[in-house]
Amino acid sequence: MTMIADNLHQVQARIDAGVAAAGRVLGSVQLLAVSKTFGPDAVRDAFAAGQHAFGENYIQEAVDKITALADLRSQLQWHCIGPIQSNKTRPVAEHFDWVHTVDRLKIAQRLSDQRPADMAPLQVCIQVNVDGGPTKSGVAPEEALALARAVAALPRLQLRGLMCIPEPAPNFEAACAVFARARALFDSLNAQGLALDTLSMGMSADLEAAIHSGSTLVRVGSAIFGARDYGTTAH
Ligand SMILES: *Cc1c(COP(=O)(O)O)cnc(C)c1O
Repeated sequence: MTMIADNLHQVQARIDAGVAAAGRVLGSVQLLAVSKTFGPDAVRDAFAAGQHAFGENYIQEAVDKITALADLRSQLQWHCIGPIQSNKTRPVAEHFDWVHTVDRLKIAQRLSDQRPADMAPLQVCIQVNVDGGPTKSGVAPEEALALARAVAALPRLQLRGLMCIPEPAPNFEAACAVFARARALFDSLNAQGLALDTLSMGMSADLEAAIHSGSTLVRVGSAIFGARDYGTTAH
């Protein structure tokens, strides 16, 4: 077994244990393998081990990788989880299946306008700044409902849920307290008529706390692919 396959099985075991500990239904948390900074061969290894959904942060790197893996395109799901500048929406609209990082209407409108007619609607999560970091991306929680309604009305997007990236917490309880805010917002948006099914939260270091708090999708990079080396990639 390759290192990546071995790591994938260990992460899946962590997810299953977290789901069981939380008393949730087995299989209710999806694993997104974050392959940023790793090449197409790493994605092929993970795919061979049964992984189909991959997350990328840097648009040009992602487009190059998606192109290099064109032979697998119909079997792979590509999720954009990095910040999107308004002049970079076109490659996102043309290459990805999902975007987790919509935090303003202008970006959503451009993605909808630029989504090719022969592709399925772009699946979207709204990024929420749940811990109030002033420099962080993400819509303020009190603005999420208005943005969600506006995004849900765009023709070429399908609003699926919320995403958050809280600051690392000192312990499990502190992490849960922050994730719980995202969960409460998710529940409140659903109570107000938005049919959200995806709560994208949890990474290598805090996926157990996220699952405890209701995450339906964890984004895991280093625990699968190893430590990232930002020095060798261009962004
Ligand atoms: C890099 C990244 C991840 C994965 O982080 P790890 O700590 O390597 O698991 C998850 N989500 C986002 C938004 C990221 O940028």
